[in-house]
Amino acid sequence: MHKTYTSYEELLDAIENGDEVSCDDYVVVEGVPVQIRPTIRSHCLPGKGNWRNKSNWVPKKPWLTFHTVQWGDGSTTGNAFFEVFSDFPSTFIRGEGATVEEAEVMAWNKLVRASRCPEHEFERRGYKNGVGFCKHCGMLKSEAFEPSEKCEICGVATYHSIDTDGKVYCETHVDMIPDEKASSSLLWLRRERESPTLDKLTSDDIRKGIEGLAKMVNNVRHARKKKAK
Ligand SMILES: [Zn+2]
Ligand SMILES: [Zn+2]
Repeated sequence: MHKTYTSYEELLDAIENGDEVSCDDYVVVEGVPVQIRPTIRSHCLPGKGNWRNKSNWVPKKPWLTFHTVQWGDGSTTGNAFFEVFSDFPSTFIRGEGATVEEAEVMAWNKLVRASRCPEHEFERRGYKNGVGFCKHCGMLKSEAFEPSEKCEICGVATYHSIDTDGKVYCETHVDMIPDEKASSSLLWLRRERESPTLDKLTSDDIRKGIEGLAKMVNNVRHARKKKAK
């Protein structure tokens, strides 16, 4: 039997009171029942050969399907992290720690704090791209403000592209930046547009790609058959 919590508040209260929440339980968010189970980025899914999840970590906190999560054990950088791309509330959260478990707890606490915040009040904290941080709970919001810069050509508020002189251009006018004033990432994009990587693939690359796809399709079929049983 799965439980259904009637609101996110009720779910958080239940967790605080020591309720065991299972990934088969639901919570009603904005009138829609949502499963209490995270969406895991494919490169972190437990299973063989997933470079980002060699230890087969499974998230422990009651994330929702609205929360797309990924993590790293810090084996290369020395610091584990746990990241949440959240649609509810709309934000990006990152937790860090000595282990993935610690990092996940930090990320979870940040989400609870943001969800419990009575009313967000955003401030720029020096960012010019429109991102804001809540004064009370610290939540990040990507479009809290209009970008604080204006397009060099049309004057629209934007932070789309910046040339090497620090002048800002909107999406429509990014092509007005001459090559010699373009950032390295913009130059790369332009080269890619002229001669896409796809055109440079050898027949061997293509064969490997197709083999990979066939394997993936087979795995999905296999999983479906197993589920159907
Ligand atoms: Zn807040
Ligand atoms: Zn413009």
